[in-house]
Amino acid sequence: MTDFSHLVREANLIGGAWVGADAGTMIEVTNPANGTVIARVPNAGADETRRAIDAAHAAFPAYAALPLNERVAMLRRLHQAIMDQQEPLARMMTAEQGKPLSEARAEVGSSAAYVLWFAEEARRIYGEIIPSPVAGRRLMTTKHPVGVVAAITPWNFPSSMLARKIGPALAAGCTVVVKPASATPLSGLVWGQLAEQAGFPAGVVNVLTGSARAIGGEIMANPKVRKITFTGSTEIGKDLIRAAAGTVKRVSMELGGNAPFIVFDDADLDRAVSGAITAKFRNAGQTCICTNRLYVQSGIYDRFTAAFAERVAALKVAPGDEAGAEQGPMIDEAAVEKMEGLLADALDKGGQLVTGGGRHARGGLFFQPTVISNATPDMRFSSEEIFGPVAAVYKFDTEDQAISLANDTEYGLAAYAFTQDMRRVFRLQDQLGYGLLGINEVLIVTPEAPFGGIKESGMGREGGRQGIEDFLDLKYTCIGGL
Ligand code: NAP
Repeated sequence: MTDFSHLVREANLIGGAWVGADAGTMIEVTNPANGTVIARVPNAGADETRRAIDAAHAAFPAYAALPLNERVAMLRRLHQAIMDQQEPLARMMTAEQGKPLSEARAEVGSSAAYVLWFAEEARRIYGEIIPSPVAGRRLMTTKHPVGVVAAITPWNFPSSMLARKIGPALAAGCTVVVKPASATPLSGLVWGQLAEQAGFPAGVVNVLTGSARAIGGEIMANPKVRKITFTGSTEIGKDLIRAAAGTVKRVSMELGGNAPFIVFDDADLDRAVSGAITAKFRNAGQTCICTNRLYVQSGIYDRFTAAFAERVAALKVAPGDEAGAEQGPMIDEAAVEKMEGLLADALDKGGQLVTGGGRHARGGLFFQPTVISNATPDMRFSSEEIFGPVAAVYKFDTEDQAISLANDTEYGLAAYAFTQDMRRVFRLQDQLGYGLLGINEVLIVTPEAPFGGIKESGMGREGGRQGIEDFLDLKYTCIGGL
């Protein structure tokens, strides 16, 4: 088994120095598959955060002024450093987060791909020459890095959520202060080590672990931070949007979702079933774009539900590093209890248990992959993000009904639909209120395309040519007397 101990740093990176928390206190990092403590990381607070922001602020002018070729070369080396360590990075992620190794390897590869994409995009930060309405003037726009960027990320994708923020920030010429989730800090801290290996100067990348409230509070109050980029729950995101007003920081938010997955009568059944398995059970259902509500048209409902439940029942639940594991443990006990609560509510309101239904025989934080049919809008999971391996299947009759049910939520991140009718596809594109649409496809995330939600799922886009824009200020210059 590949060891990852050389990648574990039980310290924070502030201004090029690896340091502990001022108070010397630490947070334990546990393996959700067995509860063992695998590392301890600093429990930093506001003072450490202020120093990290000062370091990033001090490093900014020189970093922003580096020749583009040098910045691009560093990003390319960062990409290579990640790929060189793909296996130990994946094992470290599985150990702290729980996801199957195959998924962890894919996530590490995705992180590297985002870095490479933004290394390439750094060369395309174009301005414009604007035709002047009068003689003797030249009008133009140029783009400039916003300055110090703070990034706060969740535990479900402990590496790639950072890649989508650190990559474009560094490509744009910004410096960063990063706070990964407390449940999965190792995959965040390692970015500091990889950035050092890639040759980024001291202070350009700073990584803090510890009290979310204290670190977040300082980040949001500090006027030197010019942008906050956050991935996490809508609840915390709203708090940060409010706090950003104090110093008018630029804000990017990747928040919660409540993804509908619509299967029409004319769908390719096998493809829809396979898609539903992936879209629902990846990362034990703990992704923001995971299917939350499966809407299945009446003509295919029974066949779909039976085929889907058969595949769900066959999923291998096991620690992520066990051969063939398809679903690992949940992140913590609260997540398991949430599944139990959602299930009890649905069964109480007439839902039918098709497969699964409770804690898994493996014990601990393992939960059975579960399917509930006859789901109805009054059940809690119709409006709440499930964030776990429970699939709710609803029946619908008409396309209008499906669209209306799908849109009946304050969220607007991802939606999926399976149909062979191309005219319907364009109607769905017009009418589904979501930032991401997967039609006959569920693995839709790629560095080349813009990722992000609408409504209460967030603002801003990560990836695509759009992903760097939020890290750039636009300047307009008018030169007269020519
Ligand atoms: P969370 O509780 O909102 O935490 C996310 C991050 O915010 C963590 O680093 C957390 O730190 C930090 N945080 C908590 N309270 C804070 C505060 N008062 N000020 C500043 N930072 C604070 O979310 P989560 O449970 O980790 O992640 C699950 C959520 O993320 C789901 O809603 C999911 O849909 C969403 N998500 C969205 C996307 C997307 O791209 N749209 C992607 C992935 C996940 P601690 O860990 O130290 O508490």
